[in-house]
Amino acid sequence: MRIFVPSETDRSETRVPVAPATVAKLLKLGAQVSVQSQLGKTLHLSDDDYRKAGAEVVERANGFAAADIVLRLRKPAREDIALLRKDCIHISYLDPFNEPQLVRALAAAGVTAVSMEMIPRSTIAQKMDALSSQANLAGYNAVTLAATHLDKIFPMMTTPSGTIPPAKVFVIGVGVAGLQAIATAKRLGAAVEAFDTRPVVEEQVKSLGARFVKVDLGETGQTAQGYAKELTPEQLDKQREAMAKHCAQSDVVITTAQIFGKRAPRIVTAAMVEQMKPGSIVVDMAVESGGNVEGSKLDETVDVNGVKILGVGNLAGRTARAASEMYSNNLGAFVDHFWDKENKTFRLDLTNDILKGCVITHGGEILNPQFK
Ligand code: NAD
Repeated sequence: MRIFVPSETDRSETRVPVAPATVAKLLKLGAQVSVQSQLGKTLHLSDDDYRKAGAEVVERANGFAAADIVLRLRKPAREDIALLRKDCIHISYLDPFNEPQLVRALAAAGVTAVSMEMIPRSTIAQKMDALSSQANLAGYNAVTLAATHLDKIFPMMTTPSGTIPPAKVFVIGVGVAGLQAIATAKRLGAAVEAFDTRPVVEEQVKSLGARFVKVDLGETGQTAQGYAKELTPEQLDKQREAMAKHCAQSDVVITTAQIFGKRAPRIVTAAMVEQMKPGSIVVDMAVESGGNVEGSKLDETVDVNGVKILGVGNLAGRTARAASEMYSNNLGAFVDHFWDKENKTFRLDLTNDILKGCVITHGGEILNPQFK
C-alpha cells in the first residue's frame, strides 16, 4: 500500500505529522511511503532526512493521486479532497462536530475518513490517542507561557535578599491538559489548586500534591467515555460564584474546561477578571473552542486593568518537535494496529470498536451515527 504524507498548508502550523522514525516503522510493515518535498521544514528536517529513513520525496499532487493512505495533521482543504483517490483512507484531525460540509464532501468523494479526535479513549487505543498526546504538551506549554509573562517567580525563594512566596496557580478543568498543567506548575514550585466537575478527579489532583477545590454543584458526573457532562445554567452560576474567590487570590489561572463535541463552558466572567490582582495571568486553553474566559481572543493578549488574558491557539505546537514526535507515534501506532502483516494491507474492519468510533465516512456514506 502507498502511504503519502503532505505538508501542512496552514502557515501557523509548526508541527509535522510524520517524523522520519515513523517512516522507517511504516516501511518495516511493508508499506511504501512518500512525503511531500519540504515536509519537515519547520523542524529543520531535510528531504534527505526522510530519504534516509526510506521515503520517496514527491510533489503534492502526485503524492495524493497515488495514495492508498494519507497521513496528516490538520483537516483537508476542499482542493485536497478533489485530489484523493476514491477509497483512499485519509487519517487526520477532522473537527467533525463543526465541519458538517467537510464530512459530506469526504463522503461524496468516496474517501474513508478517519478522525483522530474520535479515537475512543480506551486503554487499547492509548498509543494512538492524539488528543491526549497534544493536550499533555499544551498543558505543559500553558504553564511555561504563564511563567514567562508573570512578573513573579513560581517557586518560593529564601535568600539573604528576602523571602519570596510561591506563586499561586489555579487550574480549572483537570483532564489530560489540566493534570499536566498541575504537574508542571508543581515542578516549578508553585502552590497549586484545581477544580473539575468530575468528582473522580479529586484523587488525581491530590496525588500531584495540589489542593482540590470542593464545590457542591449537585449531580455532575461523566459520560461512559470519561467526558464531563454539561452543567445546567444554574450549576454554572454556582460554579462561577465559587471560582471567583479563587481566581481573585491567584497569580495564574489556567482554564482547560471542555465539553466533548460542544462549545466550551464560559466559566470566568469579565467581573471575575476585574476582581483579580493586576499583574495576574489568565491562560484560556479553551480559546479555540469558544473560550472559558469572557474577553479572551485567539492568538491575542488582552489586558484588563493589568490582568493579562492569553488566548493562545495550538499550544502543543509551541514545542513542535515533541508534539510532532508524539503525533507521529500516534499515527504510526494506528496504522500498525490495523496492519495485516501477511498481505501488507490496512485491515479496515468496520466492526472493530476503535474504527467504529473514528471512521467517519466510508463507501460514499457518512458512517458514524453521530454525524449522519
Ligand atoms: P476534555 O478536554 O474534554 O475536558 C477537559 C476537562 O474539563 C475535563 O476534565 C472535564 O471534566 C473538565 N470540565 C468540563 N466542564 C467543566 C467545568 N464547567 N468546570 C471545570 N471543569 C470542567 O478532557 P480530556 O482531557 O480529553 O479527558 C477526557 C476524559 O478522558 C477524562 O476522563 C480522561 O481521564 C479520559 N482519558 C482516558 C484515556 C484512556 O483511558 N485511554 C486517555 C485520555 C483521557
